[in-house]
Amino acid sequence: MNAPAAAQDFDVAIVGGGLVGASLALALADTALRIALIEPVLPGEGSQPSFDDRCSALANGSRRILESIGVWSGIARLASPIRCIQISDAGRFGAARLSAEEQGLEALGYTVLNRQLGAALWQRLHSQHSIVVLAPARVTAVNHQPDCVQLQVTGADGVRLLHTRLAVAADGAQSLVRQTSGIPASVMDYRQCAIVANVSAERAADGTAYERFTPQGPLAVLPLADGSHSVVWTVDGSAAPALLATDDAEFAALLQQRFGWRLGAIQRIGKRAAYPLALSRAERSIAPRTVLVGNAAQALHPVAGQGFNLGLRDAAALAEIIAAAADPGDVVLLEQYQRQRSVDRERMIAFTDGLVQLFASQRPGVPQLRNLGLLAFDMLPAAKRSLSSISWGFNRRAPRLLRGLTP
Ligand SMILES: Cc1cc2nc3c(=O)[nH]c(=O)nc-3n(C[C@H](O)[C@H](O)[C@H](O)COP(=O)(O)OP(=O)(O)OC[C@H]3O[C@@H](n4cnc5c(N)ncnc54)[C@H](O)[C@@H]3O)c2cc1C
Repeated sequence: MNAPAAAQDFDVAIVGGGLVGASLALALADTALRIALIEPVLPGEGSQPSFDDRCSALANGSRRILESIGVWSGIARLASPIRCIQISDAGRFGAARLSAEEQGLEALGYTVLNRQLGAALWQRLHSQHSIVVLAPARVTAVNHQPDCVQLQVTGADGVRLLHTRLAVAADGAQSLVRQTSGIPASVMDYRQCAIVANVSAERAADGTAYERFTPQGPLAVLPLADGSHSVVWTVDGSAAPALLATDDAEFAALLQQRFGWRLGAIQRIGKRAAYPLALSRAERSIAPRTVLVGNAAQALHPVAGQGFNLGLRDAAALAEIIAAAADPGDVVLLEQYQRQRSVDRERMIAFTDGLVQLFASQRPGVPQLRNLGLLAFDMLPAAKRSLSSISWGFNRRAPRLLRGLTP
């Protein structure tokens, strides 16, 4: 690495200011730690990979964390509560319905556009003078030393060097920090693509989320606060280019065919984007003076809308563990983080991947069993209670931010 002038020293450098990195920076804002956040693409720019036109389904636990870090008030009026979830299997009569009211909850979760959530996170970031935000700037090299991690940061004003006692990889599924710290990641390509579009229909969104499993992959239609719907349509990877190339009328007709008429006629199709889907998981969450959070640690299939929710719990747990630390890169603390996150992480990966495999299977007998499973689920209050409890994660011990406390 070519050493530019004088290096700046930090306690924690967060590489990546997407959904998870920006949330972590805010969770640490009131601590005595010297924090840097490095992000190459500002929110509002078309190429921002985290804050695009997708919508995130936020679990109740995520709402609580966003409240604790002062972001919820900025998005509350833009978020739609999910009051009911309808799950169905295409071509079968089995269906299940989960309702917030039945569970004694205000909502099963909330939806918000990533673009709006990103704007709220960054607005709050800019008001926190304790955080040094380097943006647009990219980490272009990482060098691990025994007592610090050196980051080479390249921005419009040239190249600078940071020394940090802890480097946090929040730089997404292709994480440079993960790769340079020697943590291997396994990637399982689902050979599927999620086509995402916001659409309006004859019937405005009323807080109902639909999850329809089809042999080609799941189709989710989520309510948005302005009455429109966010469609996440999973298709075989080879079918995605043709579907993207259709004109709006043809796309609406195909969607109508797949989804049915629950919302009346589908009327207006917004911009479409495709996301190739894979399960990527790092073998470990830590390396010397380095920790992985969010997609850098695990990127999930969006079938259950859990990737950001899980990553936000990573951020909440890490903030709590290092908030008052003399040395946030201390191996004992990093091991504590890894232990604390392992159950939630493993169970959420297994739950999400299990759903994809179960509903994709057309092996003899499996569709019939699924049908019975959905019918049974619909009649079993205990099964519904345990599904709705996923909204809080599979934590052995909930992080303080999730309990509405400071880290
Ligand atoms: C179609 C789809 C729908 C989804 N729906 C949901 C949902 O409903 N609910 C849910 O919880 N999750 C959902 N997810 C998952 C969710 O989007 C991700 O889990 C989340 O974006 C992860 O955030 P992140 O900050 O870890 O990573 P990313 O969003 O990938 O952000 C990484 C950031 O790091 C920056 N970066 C990259 N390289 C560098 C570098 N070298 N230096 C500095 N910065 C760098 C990038 O610019 C980016 O801003 C969905 C995913 C998909 C694909």
